[in-house]
Amino acid sequence: MFFQPRHVDEALEIRGRMGSDVTPLGGGTDIVVTINKTSMRPKHFLDLTHLPDYTHVVRDNGNWVLSAGATFSQLGKLPMKALAAAAMTVGGAAIRNTGTIAGNLGTASPAGDGCVALMAIDAEVELTHATRGRRTIPIHEYFTGFRRTALLADELITGVRLRTDWRTAWYKIGKRGSINISLVCAAFGMSPEGGVRMAYGCVAPIVMRTRLAEEIIEKDGLTDAAIEAAAQSVMKEVAPIDDHRASANYRRAMCGVLARRLLRELRIKNTG
Ligand SMILES: Cc1cc2nc3c(=O)[nH]c(=O)nc-3n(C[C@H](O)[C@H](O)[C@H](O)COP(=O)(O)OP(=O)(O)OC[C@H]3O[C@@H](n4cnc5c(N)ncnc54)[C@H](O)[C@@H]3O)c2cc1C
Repeated sequence: MFFQPRHVDEALEIRGRMGSDVTPLGGGTDIVVTINKTSMRPKHFLDLTHLPDYTHVVRDNGNWVLSAGATFSQLGKLPMKALAAAAMTVGGAAIRNTGTIAGNLGTASPAGDGCVALMAIDAEVELTHATRGRRTIPIHEYFTGFRRTALLADELITGVRLRTDWRTAWYKIGKRGSINISLVCAAFGMSPEGGVRMAYGCVAPIVMRTRLAEEIIEKDGLTDAAIEAAAQSVMKEVAPIDDHRASANYRRAMCGVLARRLLRELRIKNTG
């Protein structure tokens, strides 16, 4: 069956009743590739794209609230530097127009650019069940293993919430300007209270934070010495692998380069 609910309660009821027998479908930019490349054959689809407000992005009381179906093209227009810049490096225009933030979180690839950007802003992910209701979890608790998440088989990702007042920075190293999976990417954030988040993609089985480096900056600030110490720490904390895209050594070295670059960028206020 190909379900196309017109109301969120209907979508939640189908997902709650059918669980993993039904596959939520956003833009399809990951699922279609998976079906083409693997033996995965979903029994039923739950097309979410006809839900009202599915693509809404609104500002609410000091937060950005992204609906599950917010596309990368929409996120690319936000005044939240890391998320906007990350969004604009995803694929080409067609992928950015259809690929959604919930799809990025649903796939939970360690190369998920949206996931890395959200990790640097301490975003919260909203997971909803038909009868148990909504639970909101911090993004660092959402990723539980390689392509594994806290999303239960009978829930849907219904939104993401992030503060508007963080300084952020982003950089992606890839081989081409578009249709470009990261070799390494990084997003850093700093809260007005001085909290620091340094998130990396493609250097571990999950999107990761380099917490020892974060502590160095939180303690000593964005001085040249602290930035260098944090960069050295990052290169020890990450756990990249060799693959057809890049060697582990290259990735590790680039993590240090990105740490120096993005921490210096955080000296400049750029909130929105
Ligand atoms: C050519 C190409 C280039 C790409 N380049 C990049 C890139 O540069 N960076 C990058 O990060 N990604 C890239 N991608 C991957 C992809 O576009 C993104 O991961 C995108 O965010 C997926 O969103 P979607 O809506 O299309 O997901 P879908 O394919 O619809 O779904 C992906 C997964 O999420 C689940 N899901 C979707 N919505 C929900 C929901 N509301 N609740 C629960 N589960 C849900 C689905 O069941 C599925 O498991 C690329 C893909 C292609 C084909």
